[in-house]
Amino acid sequence: MSPTGTCWRDMDWTDKTTMVTTTTDAELIRDFVRVRREPEWDRVFVVAVKWQDCHSPRSTWRCALARPARLNRSEYELKTAALANRKYFRVCEECGQRVLRGWMHDARMCMSCAESHRGVVY
Ligand SMILES: [Zn+2]
Repeated sequence: MSPTGTCWRDMDWTDKTTMVTTTTDAELIRDFVRVRREPEWDRVFVVAVKWQDCHSPRSTWRCALARPARLNRSEYELKTAALANRKYFRVCEECGQRVLRGWMHDARMCMSCAESHRGVVY
């Protein structure tokens, strides 16, 4: 269906149930951001994490943004635009790292900072 022949549903996603303590933007992109080229649209999919309880994250791919294909944005441009989307990624005020929104303890702090600074146990 898509020009590249890959469907986001078939993309490999190994369930990440362990907390990642150090992430760079490049790693976030590698693990959690996918671009799908369609005839009309370039769509960027991002992993959204939903916690059913403290130990059972469920991950689903969400379409974070779409740009008209005729603009011919580069994959890098599309992916970094998705990273800047606060609906999907947040920067922790404590450690300054960008993390998936689902890994934020609250609006300001990521889960690993909450663990080490506030004694919160996940
Ligand atoms: Zn943090």
